[in-house]
Amino acid sequence: MYPKQWSFFGKALAGDRLHHAYIFYGPGHQEKKDFILQLAALAQCAKPSEQKPCGECVNCQALVSKRRVDTFIIDQQENISIDTIREAQRFLGLTKTTGLKKILIINGFEKMRPEAHDTLLKIFEEPPVDTLILLAVENITNIPKTILSRCHSVYLPGLGLSIGDLSPEEIKTIWQECEIILGVKNFAKLELAFQTSELENPADRIKWWLIFLNSFLVVYHGGEQDNQIENIFLPLLEKNINHAKIYRAVEEIALLLSKVENTNTLTRLAIEDALLRV
Ligand SMILES: [Zn+2]
Repeated sequence: MYPKQWSFFGKALAGDRLHHAYIFYGPGHQEKKDFILQLAALAQCAKPSEQKPCGECVNCQALVSKRRVDTFIIDQQENISIDTIREAQRFLGLTKTTGLKKILIINGFEKMRPEAHDTLLKIFEEPPVDTLILLAVENITNIPKTILSRCHSVYLPGLGLSIGDLSPEEIKTIWQECEIILGVKNFAKLELAFQTSELENPADRIKWWLIFLNSFLVVYHGGEQDNQIENIFLPLLEKNINHAKIYRAVEEIALLLSKVENTNTLTRLAIEDALLRV
């Protein structure tokens, strides 16, 4: 979804150069949450290849069956209390089970009660070995300087679109197109490329493909989406689509989007090319 940022983390992980704490900021709530979950999956994979989790090791398999390995997630709508942060602190102090790291994820830092900041700061000051802390915040100025100075910060621009804003018919159409993209019927892919290139704004549709495929990847990896979205993906989850194929689809469509948005490429050919490569 964010190729540049992803490649940065992939390389840092491979070279064991990952810092112990990162703050992700920017407008898209779901985008940040998804990115962090995928990063956690990559960090726990025993045999990542080409910056992707293998989908086969014990830790990857655990994720597919919705079990998180050595990962503590705080994802509250409001009032993250000092007790919750203390619980996280205890969790990080425990020995790892099968994970490669102990990961703490806090979504929505702005929901944390100020009195919990000091406890969090203590975690940052003396993080147990192999700890990885991933915070998400909308506005980085909401993070106290003492905490900010101990983290690396990463901006994730939002895509400004949310599946929840689509009508059920639109969702169905876009999802059927994603099934074609993930499928094996080249004829259907060529037809889809033609139809999409005829749209008034093909980039908009391609953006939706990217959002759907990425959400599917996150659900596949045990991440949570709202029920409406999970329900769309359920039938496809049952089809056992190959894990590497979903990753390839996300990569190809992200690349396609930047091509169609930034240059005057021949849209139809670019789409055909991307779809046939998935
Ligand atoms: Zn793995």
